[in-house]
Amino acid sequence: MDLAKKPKPSGVCNLCNAPTDRREALNQRCSLVVNGRRCSGTIKSAVNALWDECESCHATGKVGTQECTECKGFGWKIYA
Ligand SMILES: [Zn+2]
Ligand SMILES: [Zn+2]
Repeated sequence: MDLAKKPKPSGVCNLCNAPTDRREALNQRCSLVVNGRRCSGTIKSAVNALWDECESCHATGKVGTQECTECKGFGWKIYA
């Protein structure tokens, strides 16, 4: 199966590095909940961020028919 690669996320949290591709989330508080607490980071534009292709799904966001758990289906991970 030859899945298309996903576009790189447009935004990323400056604290937990969670990616997002919702433009309206930019400059808003991160909505990720970790251990029952909402992340206090802010979503910043990731246009100039460096992204690494997810090794598990090769930027397709899927492993077989399942969403890739490694990158939560985004296909990309922020380069850290
Ligand atoms: Zn966050
Ligand atoms: Zn992945």
